[in-house]
Amino acid sequence: MEKNIQDELKTLLLKEKVELEENLTRIARPIDKERGDYETSFGEIGTDREDNTTEVEQYTDNLPIEITLEKNLQDVISALERIEKGTYGFCENCQKEIDIERLRANPSAKTCIKC
Ligand SMILES: [Zn+2]
Repeated sequence: MEKNIQDELKTLLLKEKVELEENLTRIARPIDKERGDYETSFGEIGTDREDNTTEVEQYTDNLPIEITLEKNLQDVISALERIEKGTYGFCENCQKEIDIERLRANPSAKTCIKC
């Protein structure tokens, strides 16, 4: 892969990382930020029955969002690691180069279109 294209994709990945971290911080607290490990926070609104119900509802709503964001963040982190290692842009499955347009649309893609 050409250096300037890789730099362009790296910039996209870093931007995506910041956005994902911001969104995660709203609903979760970091356990291990380096690895993109977060835990959905359980908001303490109040102690009466109604407050507790709202807290549980919020937690239940946030949990699937947190899982999706966390997975995306971990994909971004692992893509950045592959850039450092020089293995970025190759399909995990068939080891062929991933199409640049696919990477532009989804810089953390691990596999090619066929796989
Ligand atoms: Zn492939």
